[in-house]
Amino acid sequence: MGFSFFASRAAARFLEDVRRPAGVSTAALLLTAASGGGIVAYADSSRPEEASGPPQQDVPKKKKVVVLGTGWGGTSFLKNLDCSRYDVKVISPRNYFAFTPLLPSVTCGTVEARSIVEPIRRMFEKKNKDVAYYEAECFKIDATKKAVHCRSAIGTNLDGNGDFEVDYDYLVVALGATVNTFNTPGVMEHCHFLKEVEDAQKIRKSVLDCFEKASLPNISEEEKRKVLHFVVIGGGPTGVEFTAELHDFLVEDLVKIYPAIQEFVKITIIQSGEHILNTFDERIAAFAETKFQRDGIEVNTGFRVLKVSDDFITVKNKSTGGEILVPYGMAIWSAGIGTRPVITDFMNQVGQAKRRALATNEWLRVRETDGVYAIGDCSSISQRKIMEDISTIFKVADKDNSGTLTLKEISDILEDICIRYPQVELYMKSMHMLDIADLIASGVGDSHKESMVVDIEEFKKALCHVDSQVKTVPATAQVAAQQGYYLADCFNKMDHCKEHPEGPLRLSGSGGDHHNFRPFRYKHLGQFAPLGGEQAAAELPGDWVSMGHSTQWLWYSVYASKQVSWRTRVLVVSDWTRRFIFGRDSSRI
Ligand code: FAD
Ligand code: MG
Repeated sequence: MGFSFFASRAAARFLEDVRRPAGVSTAALLLTAASGGGIVAYADSSRPEEASGPPQQDVPKKKKVVVLGTGWGGTSFLKNLDCSRYDVKVISPRNYFAFTPLLPSVTCGTVEARSIVEPIRRMFEKKNKDVAYYEAECFKIDATKKAVHCRSAIGTNLDGNGDFEVDYDYLVVALGATVNTFNTPGVMEHCHFLKEVEDAQKIRKSVLDCFEKASLPNISEEEKRKVLHFVVIGGGPTGVEFTAELHDFLVEDLVKIYPAIQEFVKITIIQSGEHILNTFDERIAAFAETKFQRDGIEVNTGFRVLKVSDDFITVKNKSTGGEILVPYGMAIWSAGIGTRPVITDFMNQVGQAKRRALATNEWLRVRETDGVYAIGDCSSISQRKIMEDISTIFKVADKDNSGTLTLKEISDILEDICIRYPQVELYMKSMHMLDIADLIASGVGDSHKESMVVDIEEFKKALCHVDSQVKTVPATAQVAAQQGYYLADCFNKMDHCKEHPEGPLRLSGSGGDHHNFRPFRYKHLGQFAPLGGEQAAAELPGDWVSMGHSTQWLWYSVYASKQVSWRTRVLVVSDWTRRFIFGRDSSRI
């Protein structure tokens, strides 16, 4: 009965699917049953009026939206898009979403790989009618033809060709980033990476391989030390989190089951900068370094990796210039992100060669393209400088065409300026200025603020340092998710905003970009760094810093709440509970 229910549901879905390309008069559909070579005919008797009745009114064709990637950016966009308004196609070689912040936990079995992934088709179960998903890789974006060229790794047609083309009206590029080895010799061949779920699974196996290898009877002590030397290259958040996980795995689980070799185990971090976690508040970096030293983790800052070979990592001391050979058993490279080849190729097409990421405007549209948007790690917003538009701003603000601006005229346009150029507010905050009058007075040197009148030169002088506060957004899940949400919101209200454009209205044409929406604005919600031993550090909004055991509990609650579905939430929380009770599983499967 179960089977027939699914079979009939599948049949109904299939019929629904083949009928879906609306407008195509499915008078009869011929289906070749390959196995028996027979032919099944399905007659669509539900639309007789097409042949004889009056012609149906033309329904405006839905615009085609193609989304590349099912990571943080792509799924956030799809979740928030009103998919019934568009003809949506999603292309990604990964038919699931991965909750990357928990990837380091997968490397040591604190959580299982399947607990942090959610199938794409399940995520959009309710939108299935409006969203088509193709498991394939895009290898070329053709902005002139408005099409993407894709290659399927699984389904090839009869002549063995898995390539196909999909055209679009709007393209959302959310392809993320790849690893960056900075062309360091040997890294690709000998190091592990931590970018994908498969990487985390490979690391888990390799850690256990090292322990089993060191336990073999024919291994010398020197070799044991080498095999059990785990080297993490890169002291950013991922490297630090992985180190903390590995250390916990060693001290909480492995030392109990491999007591004979525990004295040979060593973990080393190699960081080229002065400190680990250098994107965090310096108090957090200091806390992490002290904690790691207490835990016996060697933190080598100011060292650069020159080469990785089978047995050694060659590192250079940046201050003395001396080179050292470090024997190792397993090395993890987490020293930066790079550009995917398809993005590099696209950047060359659109005149953005030699960049690391696709440059977009503040509305996330790729510069010099029509209908192509980019979000997440593969893109970077190039914020317009206020000094580039200063004369236009002055002209727009000068309502009475007097050639000068009064404080009232400046105040009237201030909101638009702050929306269009967020650096103005940041600059005023950094200089502890209370209002715009303070900012203008700083350039003019006038203490009679109320009666202030400025000409264009004085206006320029007052604002000339503001652009120093232009900030780039970091390559994080938080940014990608917010961009996806913002872009979907713009797509949802596209028609409405054509008639009722949003601000900054008076500056809507400045910088050569005409737009109907408010520009994207990133809201930083803080960041965590789990440090092992049930301790974590966090940077919270409002320059708050929190460290220690209570922060780890905050981390647990935030990451449980951020899960994309109840299914993964339950799985993750139960994995944590299992780990508390039984420890991590050390089977090498
Ligand atoms: P991704 O999420 O990487 O998605 C890219 C998508 O594109 C994938 O679905 C991929 O399969 C698909 N794709 C790739 N190539 C092609 C192709 N040729 N054609 C079609 N599709 C393709 N950020 C935080 O904010 N907090 C954290 O705690 C945090 N921890 C992290 C821990 C680790 C171990 C890692 C690796 C990252 C972490 N990040 C964290 C960063 C975060 O994961 C990224 O910033 C985020 O994934 C970027 O989202 P994205 O959509 O741009 O790219
Ligand atoms: Mg005036």
